[in-house]
Amino acid sequence: MSINMVADHARWPIANDPIFEISGKAKKAIAEHGKENVIDATLGALYDDNGNLLCMNSVYSTLKGLPNEKIAAYAPLAGTPDYLKSVEKACFGDYKPNAYIRAIATPGGTGSIKHGICNYTNEGDTILIADWFWSPYNTISEEIGRKVECFTMFNEEGNFNIVSFKEHFEALMAKQGRVVTILNTPAHNPTGYSVSDEEWDEILNILKNAAKNTDNRVILLVDTAYIDYAGQGQERRKFFKKFSNLPENLFVIIGYSMSKGYTMYGMRSGAAIGISSNEDLVIEFQYSCMHSGRANWSNGTRGAMETMSTIYADPEKLTAYQNEVVTNKKMLQERAKIFVEEAKKIGLKTLPYRDGFFITIAHPEPKKVMNELTKYNLFLVSLKKGIRFAICAVSSEKCRKAPAIIKKVIDDLGSVR
Ligand code: PLP
Repeated sequence: MSINMVADHARWPIANDPIFEISGKAKKAIAEHGKENVIDATLGALYDDNGNLLCMNSVYSTLKGLPNEKIAAYAPLAGTPDYLKSVEKACFGDYKPNAYIRAIATPGGTGSIKHGICNYTNEGDTILIADWFWSPYNTISEEIGRKVECFTMFNEEGNFNIVSFKEHFEALMAKQGRVVTILNTPAHNPTGYSVSDEEWDEILNILKNAAKNTDNRVILLVDTAYIDYAGQGQERRKFFKKFSNLPENLFVIIGYSMSKGYTMYGMRSGAAIGISSNEDLVIEFQYSCMHSGRANWSNGTRGAMETMSTIYADPEKLTAYQNEVVTNKKMLQERAKIFVEEAKKIGLKTLPYRDGFFITIAHPEPKKVMNELTKYNLFLVSLKKGIRFAICAVSSEKCRKAPAIIKKVIDDLGSVR
């Protein structure tokens, strides 16, 4: 390129999103070889066992039954009041913390991450995330002049590495006096890890300890994008109660998304939920996020908000929705069980999986593995330090077959390296 027209801060590499690129290759292979002969484990969306995108009936019958004006109208900047009430119920279930809480609608969970990073860091600040992470955390940060630092997510035993988290968190706090840390749990993307209730206690002890210095600002952003697919019943929501009566300089933001739990990926709806022991600070949160919303996307998707509040206002619809969630979760858990057991049986080591859409295998040359696998018509995503297999997108039968193919490719690459 001889000259640039975009401003310095807006100049980024000219490259396509790698996930959509590999997914495009999978689609081509399906067209050529038929879908029964291709394993497409690239995309983070739930597909049924016949390879069709799963779209929840309870959700789409509600959406299509809405009067046009409830879909067409603008939503208020903060979101419709009924939606915001429903979001709190949907997110916390029986485990709403004893605290002041304010929610604000966002376009997808992504909007809540943007709010958290942008509004709770200063320019040039560094945020703290795990070394296995959803890449938009970095994209959002670099877009607005923030940096990311990673702690090591797992210890030798395959549990949350509290030692590494503490070390990085305290060093950053000493440097900045303000730290935003993002934890994507339960059902972490890409590993499928869920922080246990005991691990939450240890994490919160570290954060509370930092908050003893009243000049410090501690911000915990919990990305719950996959929460509806985690654990049995509401067990993976228990940790929310731990956000009761926190020190006022420890502010919690929940990133909530309708994309996965309502199979509404393209409808762009979610929320940022602020939690504090001080009412002024949740009001400050709400107005700060409303300003950002206005500046970035104006308001959220009215039709998605109305769908959720209509479901929550009607016990019959809510039961139908909840039953569908349970069915989908069971399907996903069955696939995970099959993949993990098969991998164990043949000696393919996966990262510790507990819940969710993805299973990840650490590898020093992930791109090579990904490209080699395409020769077997198996498509998955390469990350910086491993490969991610989307069980959400693949039938149980293919989840049984895939580990042996992956193991073979890794073993073969090992012998030529
Ligand atoms: N957080 C994680 C870890 C995700 O994987 C996703 C979606 O892929 C999101 C947040 C938010 O997604 P959306 O903006 O589509 O709701």
